[in-house]
Amino acid sequence: MEFLRPFDDSFQKYLSDESRLTGRADWLSLPRTENEILQTLSHAKDKSIPVTISGGRTGLTGGAVPNGGLLLSLENMNRILEIGHDAAQGEWFVRVEPGVTLSELFLCLEKHTPPLFYPPDPTEHSAFIGGTVASNASGARTFGYGSTRPYIRRLKVALMNGEVLDIARGRIRADNNNILTIPLPARNLSLRIPSYSLPHVKNTAGYFTSPAMDLIDLFIGSEGTLGVFTEIELRLLPKPPFIIGIMLYLPSEESALQFMRSIRIEPIVRPQALEFFDSHALDLLREKREEIGQGGVIPPIPDSARHLIYYERLYDDERMTDNILGSLAKILPDCGISLDDSWVELDEKGVARMKDLRHALPETVNSMIAGVKVSFPNITKLGTDFAVPESRLEEMMRLYHARLDESRLRYVIFGHIGDNHLHVNIIPRSEEEYALGKRIYEEFAAAAVRMGGTVAAEHGIGKLKKSLLRLMLGEHGIVEMERIKHAFDPAGLLNPGNMF
Ligand SMILES: Cc1cc2nc3c(=O)[nH]c(=O)nc-3n(C[C@H](O)[C@H](O)[C@H](O)COP(=O)(O)OP(=O)(O)OC[C@H]3O[C@@H](n4cnc5c(N)ncnc54)[C@H](O)[C@@H]3O)c2cc1C
Repeated sequence: MEFLRPFDDSFQKYLSDESRLTGRADWLSLPRTENEILQTLSHAKDKSIPVTISGGRTGLTGGAVPNGGLLLSLENMNRILEIGHDAAQGEWFVRVEPGVTLSELFLCLEKHTPPLFYPPDPTEHSAFIGGTVASNASGARTFGYGSTRPYIRRLKVALMNGEVLDIARGRIRADNNNILTIPLPARNLSLRIPSYSLPHVKNTAGYFTSPAMDLIDLFIGSEGTLGVFTEIELRLLPKPPFIIGIMLYLPSEESALQFMRSIRIEPIVRPQALEFFDSHALDLLREKREEIGQGGVIPPIPDSARHLIYYERLYDDERMTDNILGSLAKILPDCGISLDDSWVELDEKGVARMKDLRHALPETVNSMIAGVKVSFPNITKLGTDFAVPESRLEEMMRLYHARLDESRLRYVIFGHIGDNHLHVNIIPRSEEEYALGKRIYEEFAAAAVRMGGTVAAEHGIGKLKKSLLRLMLGEHGIVEMERIKHAFDPAGLLNPGNMF
């Protein structure tokens, strides 16, 4: 097995992800085929070695960080196998290996005739497709198109016992008694789906469950705890040929909330992406621009801008351009915003520059955390991933400001305001600030659950948010998940420490 070797110092990069948690490993496996994945799992099972699955390691919760044992990286399984049209379903699809990155996929789809489009758009394009399915990733466009889940048509999954499940959406559903029956080569596996109710918000915390659920949905968002994805088929959409991207500079947070209220009731301007940056986020970007200079990806941000909303609308008919801009011009003044003073782009290239600005913010925060870690190695990122029902967004924002301002901690708030899902990133400067930040973070989690929201809308639970999952699903919910985990991985060797 030349793809399996003892771990050595040159493999350090595999020991952490973007959460900045660091682990250790004894073996590294770099399989090129499904068969080599199966050989790796069989070796691990025979020798009782824990296996940690590694994708692009852009995860923010330590899911791909090993705690000893074998590190299984999917980086060599990076082929785009087929782009096709399913006439029966009337939809386009792409079949990929799990190590294809989002940027490789986007590049390939751009060149296709007719132009095709994979709507989930998690900000970090070096993520692997396998990693995004394992964490049911979302992105800015989730507001208009939903998360990764509805775009998964088929999954092949290697299990710890050497079996491979080939699951096509629509084939296996839970029956009236909430049992999923899975025909495996040597046996039928019957599983009771969890009885907890998931919140009615964007969510990726806990194994998926719903009446008559599809088996494929159990695996999406399971964070590598049930099996290794070896092949993935994604549903694609025809690419809308026109796009408007606007950076709206806002004088106050109230104007952002007013804009949100107006936009939801006016269909012509209803966008696919709505992203928010608070005043601290803008100040951080201004500082970063000073540091890296004018040649960098951060454009000048007007001094008058206290907050910012990124608006993105994709559409099929060029004649709509004037209608959209005209309707916005009517709505915006009532929110205290001027379209003339905003940054408007009408093509992909211009919109890409806006996305660079959007991406620069979490990257800047992550690199600040890396800097703090040099002096305080125990510090990890304190980034919330809570979503709440629409009716509770304003209350949640008031709570964020009240607690954080009185704490005098350094923080930024940004993210997917359209989905009522904002990331609060606390940037501690000492161990004391880290401890205080953690306490406040947990208070916010409890508030999100009380309001009917989730503790993890897109980043998953990984190794860092297990207590939050317990808070949301309760002890009984965790026991129900453990039962499912045990059915696929009785010795608990796959991704140990994730979720449980
Ligand atoms: C700057 C920045 C911005 C980000 N923005 C977003 C955003 O907008 N939306 C969002 O959702 N996330 C975002 N993220 C988080 C991250 O990009 C996503 O969680 C992404 O889905 C992780 O993919 P990955 O390939 O890097 O997975 P990894 O971090 O390598 O792994 C994530 C989890 O998936 C498991 N896994 C990986 N491959 C497989 C496989 N083949 N089979 C089974 N399990 C597997 C791992 O074991 C781990 O538990 C951001 C991260 C950064 C650094």
